[in-house]
Formats: sequence, structure tokens, C-alpha cells
Amino acid sequence: MQIPFNKPFMVGNELEYIKEAHQNRHLAGDGKFTSLCSNWLAEQTGTKKALLTHSCTAALELSAILANIEPGDEVILPSFTFVSTANAFVLRGAVPVFVDIRFDTKNIAETKIEEAITARTKAIVPVHYAGVACEMDTILEIAQRYGLLVIEDAAQAIMSTYKGRALGSIGSLGCLSFHETKNIISGEGGALLVNDTNLIERAEIVREKGTNRTQFFRGQVDKYTWCDLGSSYLPGELIAAFLWAQMEEAREITRRRLGIWQQYQAFFEKFERSDLLSRPIIPKDCVHNAHMYYLLLPSLEVRTAFMAIMRKRGVSSVFHYVPLHSSPAGRKYGRISGDMAVTDEVSDRLIRLPLWIGLDKNMDLLFEQIEYVLAELSS
Ligand SMILES: *Cc1c(COP(=O)(O)O)cnc(C)c1O
Repeated sequence: MQIPFNKPFMVGNELEYIKEAHQNRHLAGDGKFTSLCSNWLAEQTGTKKALLTHSCTAALELSAILANIEPGDEVILPSFTFVSTANAFVLRGAVPVFVDIRFDTKNIAETKIEEAITARTKAIVPVHYAGVACEMDTILEIAQRYGLLVIEDAAQAIMSTYKGRALGSIGSLGCLSFHETKNIISGEGGALLVNDTNLIERAEIVREKGTNRTQFFRGQVDKYTWCDLGSSYLPGELIAAFLWAQMEEAREITRRRLGIWQQYQAFFEKFERSDLLSRPIIPKDCVHNAHMYYLLLPSLEVRTAFMAIMRKRGVSSVFHYVPLHSSPAGRKYGRISGDMAVTDEVSDRLIRLPLWIGLDKNMDLLFEQIEYVLAELSS
């Protein structure tokens, strides 16, 4: 039997809602389903304004425009992240400045942010890895002291909280992803949470090709026109219809993923005691969403062997990220601040295990295979 790394979960109502959108003959963006999704998001996260986008990448690009990034400006972010965190700002001419991560959460090391700040720094972009929060109080305090914008890459973090606050709703802007590899999905999809009320009007304009079309449809202006920089960042209604079905089940999806995550965490306890591996650490202020289950293995050699034997036993496991500071584009466009010791080490040793709804039925078999693999490795 083969166990894939990921399997998108369908809640059941997706096609029914798509059919309804089809019947409504409203296929462009910002119809009924977009409105249901964005109202739910705003309420769920406690933000002032939620705007659906094509992707988290699009939400990050929109953020970079709202941040008034100019060529040569600097943006502080971890190197241990997906390319879009950096790319969105490089597109506007910014230099990504990479900061090392903490060993426990794999999130940006908040103690190393201040030394990365220069006169050109415009923003800090914390990434909530695996849906576990960065140390936001410290990050907000530094940002405030230096007058910087905080833009959360909360791509993996829907339904997670930090000290009771939803991730994505804490900085000035927050970016979410509904890509099929995330928890709540629409194939491709995302959202921008606009927490700073001063940015709301402009965010709507930038998202609508730089026009005030949104205000026009609300009857606030009597014609619409080109007002600012912008692009087309809104998804069509068919995507929003699919997404709405998922959002209705967001709590249940999170509950079921957490169940699997906790089974992993309990299973690996005895192996951690024997120093074969280490398990994820969730700080006490963080409630997470079980986006990911990962382990740290002793070395790159052990990880390579682990993956190979797992594959032979029919279980697919994957690693990431190639640190951005050592990628070709990262070297060309960015620079590092301080050393990247933890980033490099985690990048070599981290392995991600399958986590999808339905996997619960195969958990015994999966654990049997993993026991076999770990026995092979330690023999
Ligand atoms: C998935 C992901 C993205 C990109 O999301 P898309 O919706 O695919 O654009 C950005 N940042 C992080 C940390 C991610 O995990």
C-alpha cells in the first residue's frame, strides 16, 4: 500500500456551491461567495478587512505595493521559507535581508532582527512556520521602535493563534494561502488581511487594477477610474464557491488534522528519548493548526537514508526548504544578516511526514512502516 505525502480533502459541498455560482451567472470576482468567504475570514481572525486573492503570493505582492517599497529598500525575513516571501518584495526592487531562525519553532529569530535593520529597512516579514506563531510581541515592539511595517506570511497559519489572536491579524497586513497543500483549500487561492485601517481603501484599489471600482459598486463614487498602481488580484466566483464550502468546515478540518498530529507526537516520544530524532516544539503562547508534522533527524546522511527506506516501504516523505540565502536568486537579490547556522542545519535535517484527512485510517500501518525504517537506521 502506498501512502502519499498529501491528499487534498474535499468537504462535500464544493460542487454544489460551484453549481450555484454557475446558475447565478456571476463568474467574475466579488460576488456572493467572495463576500461569504471574506466576511467569515474577517470575523474568524478578528481583522478589519479581509480581501480574497488568487494566492498568498498575490497577497504578498499586494502588501509590497501597499508598503511603498522602492528600489534599494530592505525587507527583513527568514531564509528558511518559501520563495514567495522574498520574491514579492524583490519584484518591487527591494533587497531581502535574511535572518536566521530559532531552533525550537524554525521561525525567524526575533533576537537577531534588530541587528539587521538599516536606514533602508521598510518592513519585517515574519513567517509562521507550520502554523506555529513567531514571537510577535517582540517583533511588533521592534517594528514600532524603528517605524517599520509588519507583514505576516501566514500562508500556513489559518486557525492558529498567538496569545489568543489569530495569525495574520497581528501585523499591519497578513497573507493567507488556500493552495491545495494547505489546510483550507481552493486549489490556488489566498487572502490579504488588512489590519491597519489606514491601508484598507488603498488595498481595495490596488487589488482592483489600481481603480476605485470597489467604491463605485458600493455607490461611494459615481464613476470609477485609474487611481494608483495595481493589478488583478481577485479570484473568480467559482474559486470562492469552492472555498466557501471549505470554510464552513474549517473547525472540523482543523480538529481532524490535530488528531493526526497528536498521534504522531505521541508515537515519536519514545524515539526522541533514545536520541534518534526530535519532535516539534509548540511554545505555550501558541495554538497551532496541525498544518505540518516534521521531525529533525541527526544528519543529512540519516535523512537521505530515512527517505529512501520510507519510499521503499511505500510512504512518501519530503523535505524543504533550500534556504533562500543559498539559492541562485536569493544570492543575486538578497543578503544575509549574521550567520545562517540554524537555517542550514534545519534545512539538512528536517523531514516532513504525510498529514492529510483520511490518513487516520492508515495510522497503524504507517507507524509499523516507520518503526521498521527507524530500526533499519539504528542497526
Ligand atoms: C504556501 C506558501 C506560500 C505561497 O502560497 P501560494 O498561495 O501558493 O501563493 C507563501 N509562503 C509560505 C510560507 C507558504 O507556505
